[in-house]
Amino acid sequence: MKIICIGRNYAEHAKEMKAELPKVPMFFMKADIAILRPGNPFFYPNFSKDIHYECELVVKIDRVGKNIAEKFAHKYYSEIGLGIDFTARDLQQQCKEKGHPWEIAKSFEGSAPISKEFIPKTELNLGNIAFSLTKNGETVQEGNSDKMIFNIDQLIAYISQFMTLKKGDLIYTGTPAGVGSVKIGDELKGYIGEKEMFRVMVK
Ligand code: ZN
Repeated sequence: MKIICIGRNYAEHAKEMKAELPKVPMFFMKADIAILRPGNPFFYPNFSKDIHYECELVVKIDRVGKNIAEKFAHKYYSEIGLGIDFTARDLQQQCKEKGHPWEIAKSFEGSAPISKEFIPKTELNLGNIAFSLTKNGETVQEGNSDKMIFNIDQLIAYISQFMTLKKGDLIYTGTPAGVGSVKIGDELKGYIGEKEMFRVMVK
């Protein structure tokens, strides 16, 4: 199973990171051990002092495909979930400065909490999916798929040029603005619309 994460897919987040808007999608990978199953706490790793949450809509691929045309991409997924792309921002900054790859900042154990439930896309308007993240009860991120620079079908078409997508692969579709740090004791809750999708304690 692959975890593919999209960087800079919302203009406001790119701006807060002082990054340029991408002309084509930018993606990176997390290892399978990054998945944090529902109900498990996130243990704050000792190699970072600045872990950030990034709440993201997650697409679950349910059919194998390669070089998928954008107009057929919708046939390759049927459910949308919600997750967090935890990022060691301090290590990521060092990697960026050195031109090094990002794995130590992005692909560590437990860095990809995922919702238990996925919502059938037939119950959603894919071009208008509101989602949000609260930290200790306070809303810290609000996003909507209508603000994506590249929509889900465009992402699938792009990624599948480089690698075959398989059943069970997950695409974290990028985070909106409002990323910030967590500390031990924090509780994060993610929502699609009003529906609670996950709850993660930081320990
Ligand atoms: Zn992200």
